[in-house]
Amino acid sequence: MRCQPRVVTMTERAAADDDVRTDGGTATQRVATDGGSMDEHEHYEAIVVGCGPGGAAAAAALAANDVETLVLERGVDAGSKNVSGGLIYAEESAPYTIDDLFPDFRAEATERPAVEYKMHNCSEEKVATFDLESIHQNGTEWCDAVLRRHMDSWLAEQVHERTRETGGGLLTDVRVNGLLRENGEIVGVTCDELDPITADLIVAADGVNSELGRDAGLMDWDEPDDWFQGVKAVVDMDRETIEERFDLDGADDGAAHLFSGDLFQGVRGGGFLYTNEDSLSIGTVFHLDSIAAERAEPQELLDALLTHPLLDQWFQGEYEELEYSAKLVPDSKKVANPSPHKGRLLLVGDAAGQMQAQGPIIKGMNHAVSAGGLAAEAFQDAKTRGDPSAAGRLYEQKLHDEGVMDQLRPTRYEATSWLSESSVMTSIGSAVMNSPIGRFGVKTFDGLLEKSFNSPFVLGMIPDTKISYVTVPTVIGDVLGEPVSAEHEIEPPDLADRIGDLTYDVGDPHIEVLDNSYEASGTAVTACPVSAEDFGGGCYRSETIESNGDTERVVSLDTQPCVECGTCAVVADTHWEHPAGGKGVEYKQG
Ligand SMILES: Cc1cc2nc3c(=O)[nH]c(=O)nc-3n(C[C@H](O)[C@H](O)[C@H](O)COP(=O)(O)OP(=O)(O)OC[C@H]3O[C@@H](n4cnc5c(N)ncnc54)[C@H](O)[C@@H]3O)c2cc1C
Ligand code: SF4
Repeated sequence: MRCQPRVVTMTERAAADDDVRTDGGTATQRVATDGGSMDEHEHYEAIVVGCGPGGAAAAAALAANDVETLVLERGVDAGSKNVSGGLIYAEESAPYTIDDLFPDFRAEATERPAVEYKMHNCSEEKVATFDLESIHQNGTEWCDAVLRRHMDSWLAEQVHERTRETGGGLLTDVRVNGLLRENGEIVGVTCDELDPITADLIVAADGVNSELGRDAGLMDWDEPDDWFQGVKAVVDMDRETIEERFDLDGADDGAAHLFSGDLFQGVRGGGFLYTNEDSLSIGTVFHLDSIAAERAEPQELLDALLTHPLLDQWFQGEYEELEYSAKLVPDSKKVANPSPHKGRLLLVGDAAGQMQAQGPIIKGMNHAVSAGGLAAEAFQDAKTRGDPSAAGRLYEQKLHDEGVMDQLRPTRYEATSWLSESSVMTSIGSAVMNSPIGRFGVKTFDGLLEKSFNSPFVLGMIPDTKISYVTVPTVIGDVLGEPVSAEHEIEPPDLADRIGDLTYDVGDPHIEVLDNSYEASGTAVTACPVSAEDFGGGCYRSETIESNGDTERVVSLDTQPCVECGTCAVVADTHWEHPAGGKGVEYKQG
C-alpha cells in the first residue's frame, strides 16, 4: 500500500481509494529485502518515527532544508500516548529550542510560564522551603508548563503542514514495529499498518521504550537503575482559583513546587506540582530500582504527595482528578548513548536516553528538541558533502561539540559517583546526617545549604542515593522546618476509578510474560502503576497455585488496562512491544 501522508487515522486512510502520493511520486525505488528478493518499497528521503518534541523538531528542521520527510506516529493523535511533568525549558546554550523551530509555540501550545520555583523539604508534618529560582533560571531563556496532548497535537499540525510541502507529511495510527534491512544494513522501517518503507535517513524519536533502538542493539531495557518511573495526576482547578491560591499575577505567571523528604516511604525520588492554565499537574518521579527494591506501589506514593497537609493550602478540601498517567524516563547519566546511531538510523530524545535529571530539575523535552534539530542538521551536512551515510557520525560529533553530551553525562558525576555512591560513603553520610553533628551543621549552614541546592556545580555531582533524596531533605525539614498545621481533607480516587476513567481501544495483547514465576516477574505486581498487591484488578496479579503437591507463586497479566508506561519491560521477564497503531490507552491531558 502506498501512503498519502496527512494527519489522518488509518481507518480514514483505508476508506480512501485514491491512497497514493499526489506529488508525482518520484521517490519510489527498488530494494532487496533480507530474503534477497527485489521488492518495490515506497521511499522517502527521511522517515521520522514518533511525533513528540524530538520527532517534531527533527521533522521541522528537515523540512526547513527541503528534505522529503514522512513522519509516522502510533497514537490516534500526537500526544495521545505521551506524559510529562512537564516544564519545557528553552536553554540559552541549546543549539535548538522549540520556539526557534516553531515561533508561535509559547502562544499556542504552552500553559503558564514557571516563574516561581520552590523546593519543600518534608519531615513528618514539618516543612522547610528553599527557593530554587536561581538554579531554575540559570542559563534559562524561558520555561513553561505544558500538557502533552495539547502541545504535541499542535506541533503535529505544524509538522504536517511543513513536511507536506516536501512531498511527505504526518501519518497517525501507524506503529513502526521494526527496521527493514538489506544485506544486514538498515534501509527502512516496517510497520503494523503499512508495507515497508525505505529512506536515506531514519530518525527514531520513538520515546523511552524505543523499539527501534532495541532492534538496532543501541539501547537495552535490562537494568532498573537506568530508569525513573514518573506517575502523574492532572487536577481540575479554574484559572481564577489557581491565581488566587498560588498568589499569581494573571495568566503570564505560574508556579512550580518540588517535594522531597520522608513522605515517600524511603523511595529515592521526589514530587512536583506545576500550574497549568486551568489545571494542576501533580506527580512523582522515582528511581525504578528503588521502587522495585522497596516493593513500593506507585499510586500510593502519588497519594502520599496528594494527601500531604502542605497541599491543602492549594486544594482547600476540593479535589477533582482529570487523569492518571505514567511513563518510564531514562536516566541520561547512566544510559545516554554517546554514539546513538547505526547506519541510516539516528536515535533522538528518550530513545537515545537523553533525559537529564539535574538534582530535582527534569530536562528531557528540551534535549529531545536539540537532538532532533542536530540530527536533521547532520543529515544536511552529510548530503552537502555528497555522503548521506555520514549523518550518524556527524550527529554524534554535534552532540559532543554543542555540549549536549556533557549535560547528559556530566563528567563531574562520572568522576565522583564511584565514591559518593559506594555503600561505605552512603552509610557514613547517613550516620553523619542523622547525628547531632549533622543536625548542627544543617542549622549552622542554613543559608549555605539553600545556595548549594542552587549550584549547577553541586547538582551535577549529586549522588543517586537515599542520602540525597531522602536523608538530607528529611533532616533539613526536621531541623529548619515549620509545622504545617492544616489537616489534609481530600481523598484521591482509588486505582479502579483511575483505570476506569482512562480511554482505551483494546487491541491484541502487546506484552507477553516469558517467565511467570513470582521470582522473575513478581516485581511488576507492585511496580506497575495500574496494579497493586491487594487490588485484584489491573494488569499484574499474583496467585499461589498447586502443582504436583507443591505450591508456587506465579503472576498473570491482563494488558487491557495497560497505560504503556514500559515498567514491566524492565522489571519483569517479558516480551514487550507497544500496541498497534491507534490501539491502547489514549491520554486526553498527558
Ligand atoms: C512524569 C514525568 C515527568 C516529566 N517531567 C518533565 C519535565 O518537567 N520536563 C522535561 O523536559 N521532561 C520531563 N519528562 C521527560 C519528557 O517527557 C521526555 O524526556 C520527553 O517526552 C522525550 O521526548 P521524545 O520526543 O524523545 O519522546 P516522547 O515524547 O515519548 O515521544 C515519542 C513519540 O513516539 C511515538 N512512538 C513510540 N513508538 C512508536 C512506534 N513504534 N511507531 C510510531 N510512533 C511511535 C509515541 O507515541 C510518541 O508520540 C517527564 C516525564 C515523565 C514521565
Ligand atoms: S502492564 Fe507494564 S507497561 Fe502496562 S502499565 Fe503495567 S507496567 Fe506499565
